[in-house]
Amino acid sequence: MKIIVHRGTDQIGGCVTEYEHEGWRLFVDYGEQLPGAPKSDIPLEVEGLTKGDLSKSALLITHYHGDHIGKIVELAPNLPIYMGKISRDIVKEFANHMKTVEAACAALLQRLHSVNTFSPGKPFGFGPFTIMPIMIDHSAFDAYAFRIEAGDVRVLHTGDFRTHGFRSGKLPKLIDKFIGRVDYLVCEATNVARPDVACKSENELQSEFDAAFKVHKYNIVYLSSTNIDRLFALYHAARRSGRCFVVDEYQKNIMDIVTRPGALWSKSEMYQYLKYKPMVLSYGAGFSVEGKFKKLLDKKGYVLIARANPRFDDIISKLPGEFKHRYLSMWNGYLNPNSAAFNPMLAHSLGSDFRYMHTSGHCDMKSLHALFEKLNPKAVIPIHTDNPAAFAQLFSEKWPVVLLKDGEPFNPNSPSTFGE
Ligand SMILES: [Zn+2]
Ligand SMILES: [Zn+2]
Repeated sequence: MKIIVHRGTDQIGGCVTEYEHEGWRLFVDYGEQLPGAPKSDIPLEVEGLTKGDLSKSALLITHYHGDHIGKIVELAPNLPIYMGKISRDIVKEFANHMKTVEAACAALLQRLHSVNTFSPGKPFGFGPFTIMPIMIDHSAFDAYAFRIEAGDVRVLHTGDFRTHGFRSGKLPKLIDKFIGRVDYLVCEATNVARPDVACKSENELQSEFDAAFKVHKYNIVYLSSTNIDRLFALYHAARRSGRCFVVDEYQKNIMDIVTRPGALWSKSEMYQYLKYKPMVLSYGAGFSVEGKFKKLLDKKGYVLIARANPRFDDIISKLPGEFKHRYLSMWNGYLNPNSAAFNPMLAHSLGSDFRYMHTSGHCDMKSLHALFEKLNPKAVIPIHTDNPAAFAQLFSEKWPVVLLKDGEPFNPNSPSTFGE
């Protein structure tokens, strides 16, 4: 089996990895590059994916973030695509919500109809490959790592993940049960150049929200609509503080996908509404806050889950409360005017008086080290990183680190692989 990272050896977004065996090709992820990425104007041309014979190719999607799935609409309709079921349904809801403002979302919605789904812990085959998906904790719900096996080589492709989320504790057991020994590890290394990144646990962060909502009556939280774990953490924090939990219809639909009976985590109380239903803003000519609803919000206080747009600015101006406490619960890089990711609308909606309450969706280096200890691979190939050299420096004393260039094949069976 050959491993080729077509994109992502030296950048965070838009990773595309290929596993090739006897002419069969299994690709992992096909998403957008992050804003300002140096190679964003170079189109990716890959045999068996964007051109040539596709009859022995398939694409696996680790999770629904745009940098992993965002470009699938550009791929031929006959290329088989596999992803998690909840993941697919969340992207469907998102694409449906966005389709009137972004033409690409209408095409994405269409493409999702022919996507195949898999279940965690249930292996499936494609050509000579056996794929074992295991669920991994990330800021996207229903995110997966894949054990990919062909010939006599086994690789674990981690996808984006972390060890400080609500569901991270299961990882060692899942590895024991479903992964076992692997030869190679293709591993995300997002935070390698951000050693001071705050890897506060989701539990700690939730306690801080609990405390804030108990003290403050009128709360507005800016959050990514698909950050499910944070969303439910805020829901429970609002419930415990006796505040109304208020979302718009689109956000409620996203929550419903997770809570519906039979959904993967629906047995966990974390992803249930209990007796405390979210309140849904109705949108006609504009959001309206009137009568009893307004009185209730005023009496009990509220936690509004907001996104930065004029509709929300409008509703916020109509909500009771002279002073509203604002929180940013997403990456603060969006507020840096010198960054390509700068979001002026978010900066405008937040204003200058807000609290930054967030934790990373990616793991810290100590956790990566623990993962390597557990898996004991023959080599580690970092991807999804903007500083592969720092990764090599950090780990290569203990673990063979293979730094590939985009498009450069790595052949585990070649005798010269570690000879030079
Ligand atoms: Zn991600
Ligand atoms: Zn990513």
